[in-house]
Amino acid sequence: MQRTFIIFKPDCIDKKHVGAVLGRFEQAGFSIIGLKMMHLTPALLRVHYAHVAHLPFFPRLEQFMSSRPVIVAALQGENVVARVREMLGPTDPKKAAPGTIRGDFGESGMINVAHASDSVENGILEIDRFFKPGEIFEIDPVALSAS
Ligand code: ADP
Repeated sequence: MQRTFIIFKPDCIDKKHVGAVLGRFEQAGFSIIGLKMMHLTPALLRVHYAHVAHLPFFPRLEQFMSSRPVIVAALQGENVVARVREMLGPTDPKKAAPGTIRGDFGESGMINVAHASDSVENGILEIDRFFKPGEIFEIDPVALSAS
């Protein structure tokens, strides 16, 4: 069982696509183990986006992501990291196939609906970074299979 971290970006909330996107994850069989609305501070964004912080678009990305509250989620499931990245599609929605989340709802290379962890290690790190321990709810696989 893997875990991945999702951010529903401001455009997703503005356009009221949160339910549709979360619904796709649930229909794929993934379990929600954490969910909340929060404001991302520039300091948190500089850590989360450290791998692009040196690039020219970063100030605009920081402004966009901190401009209004986002919704963050932690999902659990088999191979959830790679499968959610596949469902999301590539960073630039223009290159994303119809049927992918970014292909269906994305606006631009920056305004692209959602973030999802790109590795199993980052899934664990990012959930830790954005959620407090009491905000993650363990799913007992035995209880799940009995229901
Ligand atoms: P992904 O979100 O697909 O993992 P990256 O980690 O490369 O992509 O980039 C993080 C975020 O930075 C993207 O989701 C997007 O919002 C923004 N971004 C990436 N590349 C560009 C770009 N060329 N121009 C503007 N924004 C970008």
